[in-house]
Amino acid sequence: MGCSFCGKNIPRGTGFMFVRKTGQVYTFCSRKCEHNMIHLERQSRKTRWTKEFAKTKASNLSIREHAQKAKENVKE
Ligand SMILES: [Zn+2]
Repeated sequence: MGCSFCGKNIPRGTGFMFVRKTGQVYTFCSRKCEHNMIHLERQSRKTRWTKEFAKTKASNLSIREHAQKAKENVKE
């Protein structure tokens, strides 16, 4: 199972589970990830060292490239 914040794979026997009063379950690989998500209320999308950040960055780049190509096609 992957970490709810950074997206890294959690090896067996490590990490822990965090359950909110609402029943929402998160799994974390480290206290660092728990602290960032629960206490600092950071979004993995906006935190540079997470997998989610890399994913959104890559998709944003591909969207930009697509838009640029579309613009170039209009010019021609
Ligand atoms: Zn993590």
